[in-house]
Amino acid sequence: MDLRDKIRNIKDFPKEGINFKDITTVLKDKEAFNYCINALAEIAKEVEYDIVVGPEARGFLVGAPLAYATKAGFVPVRKPGKLPADTYSYEYELEYGTDTLEIHKDAINPGDKVIIADDLLATGGTVQSTINMIEKLGGEVVGVYFMIELEFLKGIEKLEGYNVKSLIKY
Ligand code: 5GP
Repeated sequence: MDLRDKIRNIKDFPKEGINFKDITTVLKDKEAFNYCINALAEIAKEVEYDIVVGPEARGFLVGAPLAYATKAGFVPVRKPGKLPADTYSYEYELEYGTDTLEIHKDAINPGDKVIIADDLLATGGTVQSTINMIEKLGGEVVGVYFMIELEFLKGIEKLEGYNVKSLIKY
């Protein structure tokens, strides 16, 4: 299957000049969704891990089914104020301003082997912050997997030394 055919391009969303990759058209297609999660699970066979971490919100849609399919646990990384227990927060720079992500402090234990899954790698800021949080809690990131990588944004440069793979590249 060519997943590329199932991804919808939305011009000028969320603002002018951005060609947004809409994955809802993959998710609603039973064959495409199944293919996508199975393909990621196949790649993830190269490493051993107990936990899949997924950043809000589309990371949940890829990470949770991947965790289920590979019999791993799932840990959400969320926007501030959403997680109920004790959290570790991480603030990172955007082109304009900053953003913050949070994770439960007890979600990762020292020595845990972790993979990160998200729908799309753009500038790499989200996943770089997610890696920082996991490592701060003592976890080891053994794989970083995406459905889509936007190569022209060079997010991969922020992830040097990590095992990064994606199903489709633009
Ligand atoms: P980054 O932090 O790498 O710049 O942005 C990646 C995050 O933004 C991902 O969590 C992803 O869900 C979201 N994102 C950015 N651009 C797109 C896009 O074109 N399509 C989708 N589906 N998500 C995007």
